[in-house]
Amino acid sequence: MLEKYFIAKKKLYPQKAIGKFRNLKSRLNFLFLAIYCLTPFLRFDRENTAPNQAVLIDIVNSKAYFFFIEIWAQEVFYLAGILILSAVALFFITSLFGRVWCGYACFQTVWTDIFIAVERFFQGDRNDRILLDRKKSFKKYFLKFLTHLTWIFISILTGFFFVSYFNDSIILLNKIINLQFTEISLKIYGWIFGIAGMTYIMAGFAREHVCTYMCPYARFQSAMFDDNTLIVSYDQKRGEPRDKLKHGETFENRGHCIDCKQCVVVCPTGIDIRNGLQMECIACGLCIDACDTVMEKIGLPKGLIRYDTLAHLNDPIPQKKFRFLQPRTFYYSFILILVSGLMLYSLIKKPQIETTFSQERNPLFITLSDGSIRNVYNLKIINKTHQAKNFKISLSKPDFGNLKIVNHDENNITIPAETALDLRTMVSFSANELQQINKAETLIEIEINETNNQKNSQEKIIVSGIFISE
Ligand code: SF4
Ligand code: SF4
Repeated sequence: MLEKYFIAKKKLYPQKAIGKFRNLKSRLNFLFLAIYCLTPFLRFDRENTAPNQAVLIDIVNSKAYFFFIEIWAQEVFYLAGILILSAVALFFITSLFGRVWCGYACFQTVWTDIFIAVERFFQGDRNDRILLDRKKSFKKYFLKFLTHLTWIFISILTGFFFVSYFNDSIILLNKIINLQFTEISLKIYGWIFGIAGMTYIMAGFAREHVCTYMCPYARFQSAMFDDNTLIVSYDQKRGEPRDKLKHGETFENRGHCIDCKQCVVVCPTGIDIRNGLQMECIACGLCIDACDTVMEKIGLPKGLIRYDTLAHLNDPIPQKKFRFLQPRTFYYSFILILVSGLMLYSLIKKPQIETTFSQERNPLFITLSDGSIRNVYNLKIINKTHQAKNFKISLSKPDFGNLKIVNHDENNITIPAETALDLRTMVSFSANELQQINKAETLIEIEINETNNQKNSQEKIIVSGIFISE
């Protein structure tokens, strides 16, 4: 069907591997799926003034919530910082353990693995699927129909959980459970079905092509490898010369590889690891499980294919074995801990009341009928707290002159929780006062005092600007 849109390649029928890496992969799949599906349903108390969804990206109000951390649109640089940190962490992991991210944690790998499991459930393991594809029978089309129906169901669920990160997940779920489909906006349907379509195509059809041809990470990962990086490798010294194992034959004067190709048929990207490290290899370790099973059956030690370093493969002495504690472990860890600590500190300590202050430029000043001069400024106060705040705004430097806020009482300005307020601020000096300033341009300071319902001042912010009189 959709395979025709991808480069011509033999269709793969990955066989189920049995072993510790397969088990690890299944457990991690389960863990990552649980995190993906449950996270939008976690709640976090924000005192009824903000959504109580622990992780929420509120596009409409330009805010992102992550438990106690709140990021406003103006602070989007934090997101850039988090992305850069994630990239550095990924480079660190890759330089130590090769492409384990690709093999165990990447969305494409996790979803493809689930889709292959569904295929296997309905159509059987590798040989059954090959035989089924050769026939034309009602059973074949029925089993394919069930497979695709399940894929579509999983894809729609994937889309639903994705949009739950951007909307109130409980309200959305309630609407679906109560069949109130008309109350869900077209935009949400668009995203659910868009993500579902992507999932269906990528995990159902594109599969290993994404890792091989579409993912840029596969292209530059080799730049992060060196001889001490842990990679999935075939021990050529032990395995070659390979040959089929004849009845009663011993392993004298030959390698341990019996050319059974079990490592090839389980590979989700369809490569032969005996040809050396290849760009297509996602380091999933399934070929290790397959070969270990074969070695166990023929009574040879496991590990003909294993996670190892090139240094140890070339010179198999204990000193060349993989070591987690290498110089790069320390400097990468130092950078990661330092930068994430600083980011976390600045996120926790960031001011909860923020201001911006700018002068209206057209006109620069206005001469009033009594000879006084007025300048107009735009003052913006952002209340990022979960309580309404009261403010008193006054001119603090010089200690004379007149300050008025258009449409507000400058002695009592209330800003609701999580709200920004624009205040058109007029400052004027009489002709006499101007003589005291005695400059065409002078620095003025405006004091913003938080007054807790006219009680004691809680917080003082000073903003400054230039007053122009000529
Ligand atoms: S599974 Fe092991 S023995 Fe069989 S072909 Fe692969 S490397 Fe050789
Ligand atoms: S060669 Fe082995 S580790 Fe690499 S993708 Fe294939 S099965 Fe996974």
